[in-house]
Amino acid sequence: MSSEDRFYMPAKVFFGKGVVENHAADIGRLGRKALIVTGRHSAKACGVYDNIVKALDLSGTEHVWFHEVEENPSVETVMKARDFALEEKADFVIGAGGGSPMDASKAIALMMYHPEKGAEYLYQPGNDAHTVPVVCIPTTCGTGSEVTAVSVLTNNALQTKKSIPYKIFPELSLIDGTYLRSAGRQTICNTAFDALAHLYESYLNSSATEISKLIARSGLGVWKNCLPVLRGERTAEDEDYENLMRASMLGGMAIAHTGTSLPHGLSYSLTYHLKVAHGRAVCFFMAGYLKEADPKEARHILELSGFSDADDFHRAYLKCCKAPDADRQKMTEILEQCVADLSKDRAKCAKAPFETDEEVLRRIALGAL
Ligand code: NAP
Ligand code: FE
Repeated sequence: MSSEDRFYMPAKVFFGKGVVENHAADIGRLGRKALIVTGRHSAKACGVYDNIVKALDLSGTEHVWFHEVEENPSVETVMKARDFALEEKADFVIGAGGGSPMDASKAIALMMYHPEKGAEYLYQPGNDAHTVPVVCIPTTCGTGSEVTAVSVLTNNALQTKKSIPYKIFPELSLIDGTYLRSAGRQTICNTAFDALAHLYESYLNSSATEISKLIARSGLGVWKNCLPVLRGERTAEDEDYENLMRASMLGGMAIAHTGTSLPHGLSYSLTYHLKVAHGRAVCFFMAGYLKEADPKEARHILELSGFSDADDFHRAYLKCCKAPDADRQKMTEILEQCVADLSKDRAKCAKAPFETDEEVLRRIALGAL
């Protein structure tokens, strides 16, 4: 671990019931015409779209709506939204939804700032990273994208998902747990386990510092309160939705500093090939990761989040998210692909706080079968 402690997370965060309308003036200050970026259905269902429109109308800000972001958004969708924004002369972006619309909104904002550039710009390292301003409003409780600088896109040319090499923090992050009321149990579970993965992978990370570990530990304590709801032992109330959003935000802040580690790295090809939801794919590899880590550290974070050991965690994962299903031979082939893809990503492998070679990756990936 580095001896110097530091932390950088430059998004302005407001958290609580009614934050979107309460911050109409802050949103309005960011531009003249907003591009609202969402998925196809949930933004209407959970009420966030109507609240955004109310806030923009209150501040006299024009707006247009791009509502075609798919789960695990593609480079093609980002380019389509960028072209629409240019045509409509929008000058800032509001991404509302799960990680997919929020991540897409960051990449769209980058490409709006560079209107003459094509899709290849998204994956070229070392380019100018300026963007038009971005507002993020989460409606799932997993990615923490509202407080990270990360945008993960599906790259069909590479046949996997990959973060773009830019750090794009939202200018403003508005978090309201009540948007989770419309989310089904499966969406809540899949995304809550993603948040837990961020907390674990940030804590067990070669870039962890005392500050990032403090944030991860707080997040684990908050997450633990939600376990009975995730297990289906009681119905969620507004306080649970607030806790789920808070744990997700803390997970985001923790990985904003450290980045994620091997379970995330292994998950991308699994999601690409089997269309497995993100949190469900990531946590498939988690017990294996915890077993490779320092046993004392692993036990500490498992206990903080309500589990006696890695197997207890895995049982809860299976109950809440279910393992990805494919026949054993196909699954083995895909897991080998996950290992091969992650082996090439030396930066991601270096995030593990232990020596990582192909053997270790194979043990984690195939051990999950
Ligand atoms: P998502 O792909 O954004 O959304 C999953 C599903 O949930 C969609 O069908 C969506 O519907 C629905 N949904 C969203 N909010 C809802 C609500 N309140 N009520 C009912 N349904 C709702 O899922 P996600 O897990 O949040 O995001 C996953 C993406 O984030 C992945 O691409 C992943 O790689 C990325 N990620 C990013 C970071 C980061 O730091 N930036 C970290 C981890 C993961 P609609 O399509 O109709 O909206
Ligand atoms: Fe994640």
